[in-house]
Amino acid sequence: MAGTTPPRVAIVGAGFAGLVAARELEAAGIDVEIYEARDRIGGRAWTDERLGHQLEMGATWVHWMQPFVWTEITRYGQGIHPSPIADDAYWLSDGEVHHGTEAELDERLARPQERIFEGSREFFPYPHEPLGVLDSGDAHLIERFRAADQGSVLDALRGGDFTQEEIDLADAYWSAGYNGRTATASPLMAKHWAALSDHRLSLLDEQTLRFKLDGGMQGIYRAIAADLRAPIRLSTAVTAVAHDADGARLTLADGTAVEADAVIVTAPLGALDGIAFSPALPAPAQQVIDDGFNCTGFKIWIRIRGKHSLIAYAPTGNPIALVRSEYFDDDSTILVGFGPDHSQIDLTDAAHVQEIVRRWRPDLEVLECTGHDWVADPWSGQTWATPRSGQFLEGWSLFRDTGTRLRFAGADWAKGWNGVVVDGAIETGITTARGLIDEFRRG
Ligand SMILES: Cc1cc2nc3c(=O)[nH]c(=O)nc-3n(C[C@H](O)[C@H](O)[C@H](O)COP(=O)(O)OP(=O)(O)OC[C@H]3O[C@@H](n4cnc5c(N)ncnc54)[C@H](O)[C@@H]3O)c2cc1C
Repeated sequence: MAGTTPPRVAIVGAGFAGLVAARELEAAGIDVEIYEARDRIGGRAWTDERLGHQLEMGATWVHWMQPFVWTEITRYGQGIHPSPIADDAYWLSDGEVHHGTEAELDERLARPQERIFEGSREFFPYPHEPLGVLDSGDAHLIERFRAADQGSVLDALRGGDFTQEEIDLADAYWSAGYNGRTATASPLMAKHWAALSDHRLSLLDEQTLRFKLDGGMQGIYRAIAADLRAPIRLSTAVTAVAHDADGARLTLADGTAVEADAVIVTAPLGALDGIAFSPALPAPAQQVIDDGFNCTGFKIWIRIRGKHSLIAYAPTGNPIALVRSEYFDDDSTILVGFGPDHSQIDLTDAAHVQEIVRRWRPDLEVLECTGHDWVADPWSGQTWATPRSGQFLEGWSLFRDTGTRLRFAGADWAKGWNGVVVDGAIETGITTARGLIDEFRRG
């Protein structure tokens, strides 16, 4: 590209995928401009000052076995530390509260989880090629793989010798994990997570809920942004994208038109209905937008009176599926919680949350609570992307190849940690940018 006018790429969204794609393109001499609907960068990663702490409204936990995010942590010299292990564990089943240690809770979960993970080695021999089995030529394996995308993640436990307590524990775990209803959650995602965690529940827990950044997620998203020359236009929503084989034309919310040689859209699936694509996306992709992913839940932060080192689980029918102690202050504890349905909770209503928390321990007193409703937020429309039944095969992958200069990047379309973690956003930021760089170089 030396000696010629550099190509120009417009990026929609300044979350991890957009920021990393911009850095990659700039390193190749390409001109970039980023349009971000919100008045801040970071997207679904947002370190905010709440309840007297730097709390993560979105992404929190990272791991060295997530290759793309670990590279960024290393690049920018960030440190990590563990979340606390709980002294007491409580779990609701059949209307009763069970009590034990966190290790005892994990032991009870081990057997149902092993059943839920069944097939993970065969289906995902290369976890970063999650649909690779479809090219295996093994008709029987492909048939079983397709079947495993149907039904519910809990189907594996039905009609067997699993106790209601085991089913309820698994239900709570995956209500939090899918951040949505287990009844509609594709069983394949749980098996894929197992494959990404060496088929071990303990490593899966470590990867998703144990280690967090000393300076919070902002430590990396701000560092990446600081490396950019590209302007980041905040509070600038993109409302329309026209695209063909040679370039793209964006329309901004104020009506301004922007021409580019390519556009990378990093808005999550839940926010794509805010952009008018022309030509329209293929019908199967549009259907996925209309249906949405399975992630209709929430994350909540709750301050309770006194010091309590606890973890608690509750199955479907309870608004909060999983809650645990995260910070200990002088005379109070801050819990972090997750549930499958954002419409079942008011994230800032302490009296309402009090009623929920009492289901485990009537003596716990909720002082205040907070969170961000990502599902109601038009710029996300969902939390972390998790597939409904059928969407592991016919969902995220439909957005990976458009045939024009419109490209999608973002955690929702990642091959490795698809949807759930920042790692996937970074993966697609890199691969999508590299794809364009190669295309521009070919001329
Ligand atoms: C509650 C919650 C907890 C999570 N916990 C973890 C965790 O512990 N660890 C972890 O690694 N990950 C976690 N995640 C997932 C992680 O946050 C995401 O995978 C990652 O941040 C996605 O990055 P992205 O760039 O793909 O998308 P986003 O961060 O969503 O970025 C997309 C950007 O596009 C912008 N946008 C949307 N529409 C438009 C438009 N029309 N015009 C202009 N801009 C637009 C949005 O405002 C946004 O900034 C969590 C997510 C949530 C919601």
